[in-house]
Amino acid sequence: MSQQDILQTPIEFLKGVGPARATLLKTEINVHTFWDLLHYFPFRHIDRTRFYTTAELNENLGLVQLKGRIVHVGYAGDGRKRRLVATFRDAHGSLELIWFQAVKWVESSLKLGEEYVVFGKPVFYRSGFSIAHPELELVANAEKMGGQAVLQPVYNSTDKLKNRGLDAKGIAKLTFVLLEQVQPQLIETLPAGFIEQQRLLPRALAYRNIHFPRDQSALDAARYRLKFEELFLLQFGLLWQKRARSQKFRGQVFGKVGENFMTFYEHKLPFTLTEAQKRVLKEIRADLKTGAQMNRLLQGDVGSGKTVVALLTMLLAIDNGFQACLMAPTEILATQHFHTLRELLGDMDVRIRLLTGSTGTKDRREIHESLRSGELHILVGTHALIEPDVVFQNLGLTIIDEQHRFGVAQRAKLWAKNSIPPHVLVMTATPIPRTLAMTLYGDLDVSVIDELPAGRKPIKTSHARDAQRLKVFEFMRREIQLGRQVYMVYPMIEESEKLDLKYLHDGFEAISRAFPIPHYQVSIVHGKMKSDAKEFEMQRFVKGQTNIMVATTVIEVGVNVPNASVMIIENAERFGLSQLHQLRGRVGRGAEQSYCILMTSDKLSNEAKVRIQTMCDTNDGFKIAEVDLQLRGPGDIAGTQQSGSIEFSIADLTTDGEILREARKVVEGLFADDPDLTKPVSRQLVAVYNEQHKHRKHWSRIS
Ligand code: ADP
Ligand code: MG
Repeated sequence: MSQQDILQTPIEFLKGVGPARATLLKTEINVHTFWDLLHYFPFRHIDRTRFYTTAELNENLGLVQLKGRIVHVGYAGDGRKRRLVATFRDAHGSLELIWFQAVKWVESSLKLGEEYVVFGKPVFYRSGFSIAHPELELVANAEKMGGQAVLQPVYNSTDKLKNRGLDAKGIAKLTFVLLEQVQPQLIETLPAGFIEQQRLLPRALAYRNIHFPRDQSALDAARYRLKFEELFLLQFGLLWQKRARSQKFRGQVFGKVGENFMTFYEHKLPFTLTEAQKRVLKEIRADLKTGAQMNRLLQGDVGSGKTVVALLTMLLAIDNGFQACLMAPTEILATQHFHTLRELLGDMDVRIRLLTGSTGTKDRREIHESLRSGELHILVGTHALIEPDVVFQNLGLTIIDEQHRFGVAQRAKLWAKNSIPPHVLVMTATPIPRTLAMTLYGDLDVSVIDELPAGRKPIKTSHARDAQRLKVFEFMRREIQLGRQVYMVYPMIEESEKLDLKYLHDGFEAISRAFPIPHYQVSIVHGKMKSDAKEFEMQRFVKGQTNIMVATTVIEVGVNVPNASVMIIENAERFGLSQLHQLRGRVGRGAEQSYCILMTSDKLSNEAKVRIQTMCDTNDGFKIAEVDLQLRGPGDIAGTQQSGSIEFSIADLTTDGEILREARKVVEGLFADDPDLTKPVSRQLVAVYNEQHKHRKHWSRIS
């Protein structure tokens, strides 16, 4: 039997399991096969080398281990409070062991006078320490258990499993049996030279030591080996896909820098590019010359100036005889992009149109025709762009703004619009922690604009409770007096849409009373409005005709009104970190000092406090993204759609960034050294990769 075959054995065939326990193992902890149990790792280990004495106890120790004898057993209390109490004594003193349940069984199994190892959490009550429902093991047995393991594994268990004798210890016994049986067949997967070079623990030993380590360093080495292997193979797969794609998909060659690009760069650009913008542009231009399709992710914090980079890239496409399109997730954003681009282009002879769900039939027909004839250069729009009747004459470049809102499938549809797929530039303003980016977008090239245009004043962020509302209003009046504009944002989530809409309207009324016409003008925008009404209100604010914009998160992405310098977020505790950061990014776009005020109720959860505090402490999107990753874990950040690609059996992106970077580096070195993977080591790695992914359950990546 090959090793994979034996690991695929149903768990009921393991000695000590059987059909009844097997059913429970499947339903309770998702263990179906030998492989699953082998990968059911302990969440911690008890240090069996450390014994406390009764004299050393204090309440802060948590779980401890003691050695001693039971000198007395009796009952205390009545009725429901009746309990079994055993006095446990060592050389320094004594404590009480207490049982409220299964007392008869425990009482009959306790052996007076024999030496026990006791494990549990001591609690101080009145005159001494006690441990409720301790783990007890005769010293004689403890020494046998787990061979020479002195770090004893602790596994998660459930009530149902415990009732069947599969508590942490029961599971440890099964794992022990399993290892005895399969360990000889856990052949090395990674090439020998590679193991040596990376100083990795051999595979079979790693599996043994992650369950039953001799000491802490053996455990660490085992964890490292298995995590490294998992992350390494992931990166290997991603870079391999990337390479395969660049060979498979020929790309249009944008060889020249032409008139449009030069005219814009030299005469129209209203500012000088930041160093980061220049660098990114260089990276893009290098891609476009290679003859392979570009797949690049452009990360840049809000306000870092991605739009102008997008425009310059589109001009390159046009100069080389191609059309370009820019897709945005909302109508507001698409419209705004359209206006911004048109304004930037000024009187240049670049033909650009907007296509959204609410574009009229006549315009639509015109757009379709001019796209086919090649007369139209740039098409900006929403999802409407991917409809089948949108046919380009020669699409060379697709830019997608705010990619996290588009599914991978939608991206693919845009590709299909040409026989040679267009170059793809995905822009995102949601900084993604590096570990996550490497995993989710590991097959894309990544450019980062990590610098804001000069002269921006950092936004000042503060936290205000509901009770301070009048002061906040006062502050708003002062800013409006100075000629600035204010956003007030309300949460809007689907589950409580009606209620949220009511809050929004109540808020709008309260604001309208506090800021009455004719001294003040207030706009309102939310997702349930008709698009022309929405656009009308947006434009009033953009033109400075209104002082305050009351809105839901529809204004979250991309909206650009440099004169708006105050962002007030209502019920800020209900927003996630990345959303708060996005919203705050709507201000701080002009020369004036900007402010963000996070309004919350008085009661805040600990997590909400961390979020608010983080926002008050920093404007750095990447720092915020890291905190977000710690708070929510990678699955939530990636979104359900993509979380399949970050489900690991042992690695954890929240904590294993260091190992991931190391793995990536090693993979990159490998491809640099042997791009076609023809060397024996490379071929062996390909085989391992293929073998593992045949069996990997959650591998569902498409891109
Ligand atoms: P984002 O990356 O969030 O999409 P934008 O492209 O909307 O940012 O740019 C934000 C603002 O900064 C815009 O008003 C834009 O004109 C301006 N801007 C962009 N690049 C520069 C630069 N190099 N110097 C000065 N202002 C810039
Ligand atoms: Mg933008």
